[in-house]
Amino acid sequence: GRDWKHTESLPGKADKNVYDWSSEEEEPDGRARPIQVLLVKDDHTFELDEVALSRILLAEEVRDREVVAISVAGAFRKGKSFLMDFMLRYMYKHASEDWLGDADEPLTGFSWRGGSERETTGIQIWSEVFLVDKPDGRKVAVLLMDTQGTFDSQSTLRDSATVFALSTMISSMQVYNISQNVQEDDLQHLQVTNTVKHLMRADFKPNKKSIYSMIFLVRDWSFPYEFPYGQEGGMKFLEKRLKISENQHEELQNVRKHIHSCFTNISCFLMPHPGLKVATNPHFDGRIIEIDGEFINNLKVLVPWLLSPRNIDVKEINGSKITCRGLVEYFKAYIKIYQGEELPHPKSMLQVRFLHLLKGPVRVCGGDRPFLAPSELQARHGAIREEALQVFRGVKKMGGEEFSRRYLQQLEGEVDEVFVQYIKHNDSKNIFHAARTPATLFVVIFV
Ligand code: GDP
Ligand code: MG
Repeated sequence: GRDWKHTESLPGKADKNVYDWSSEEEEPDGRARPIQVLLVKDDHTFELDEVALSRILLAEEVRDREVVAISVAGAFRKGKSFLMDFMLRYMYKHASEDWLGDADEPLTGFSWRGGSERETTGIQIWSEVFLVDKPDGRKVAVLLMDTQGTFDSQSTLRDSATVFALSTMISSMQVYNISQNVQEDDLQHLQVTNTVKHLMRADFKPNKKSIYSMIFLVRDWSFPYEFPYGQEGGMKFLEKRLKISENQHEELQNVRKHIHSCFTNISCFLMPHPGLKVATNPHFDGRIIEIDGEFINNLKVLVPWLLSPRNIDVKEINGSKITCRGLVEYFKAYIKIYQGEELPHPKSMLQVRFLHLLKGPVRVCGGDRPFLAPSELQARHGAIREEALQVFRGVKKMGGEEFSRRYLQQLEGEVDEVFVQYIKHNDSKNIFHAARTPATLFVVIFV
């Protein structure tokens, strides 16, 4: 029984050691626990545990229910599991007023204790899907996901970013858990997500809206006098961080533009530091009495804000609401794309710069510029082409040499293709001296 009305016991503290993160094993006592459904292996391949995923999402009680998939994503050791245990508590207490429980009740659920968790890049889902009655009478299925990666070393950054993108695509809400501030790096990961989503859009029905929500959850926020804790302060802070200004590097500007075009809803929540016991005491077991009051106060706002029956939204892809069964299918489809050839990285990271360079010919012969002698156009094209390739070679790229070579070839191809268009455009001016080609031609190509 996974019914909302029905409580299943959480594993107690003594069960900590049964959290073997591999899902090949059967649940020893049938109790709920995190299950690794997506695993990134050392050779950077992705492994989807379809059996585990199906066992959870295709269970009779939930499979035809519309799904709310909530992911908490980010780097290791930043308090994700700690937070998710509170989210579980809220779910198990059926969103009741006193969901937080007794002050000396240890915290259980996703293993959050230092050292007890293998640092595996991938996605874990809570084995129990919750059935929740929305105020409008609909019963929906709520799935909790833990998305984690390293995000710091070059060799694994791509894996982490890919897992992040995947969980963004299959979740109805992505809670991006970050420490202390919103750094440029944190934003870069989102840009990758955006590229991948465009890929997806091409694959599925275009023009139909998919809803993606992103919440920046900033932990250990230490400037409450500047931007107060909570959601309002968070929004003001985020507005400032995501503001596009003219003197920003074009790439930084682009990241910001992408974020806005990428997510239907973006918000931010600033969380205070939970206190030294939480952060440093190895024997701390999660009891509220030992957590800073300010943290608890904000937790009481944050968790219902994320999970209350009124606030949760069903996953929508291409304009239709997704059931648990549908989510399994999307998960499989998305993974296939990642396992295939279409890996977007080096290109997406540098695209902005290329486009800027490729605009060179517009200045040379675009719009209503006068006709240029073909030899002159050829020479200018050569110079611009070389410049573009040099930028590509000169920038550190993710994914290694072999990987980026493909993109280099692709770039060369694209530059040459654009050149052909310019030749045609230039020629047209030669034939129809007086005819003005609208400058929008180039806008269409480049925007
Ligand atoms: P995860 O790897 O992101 O899931 O992180 P965990 O939830 O396992 O937490 C890692 C460590 O950080 C634990 O020792 C927690 O007690 C501690 N911790 C949890 N929440 C916070 C927080 O908001 N701030 C700080 N500084 N530490 C936290
Ligand atoms: Mg964790």
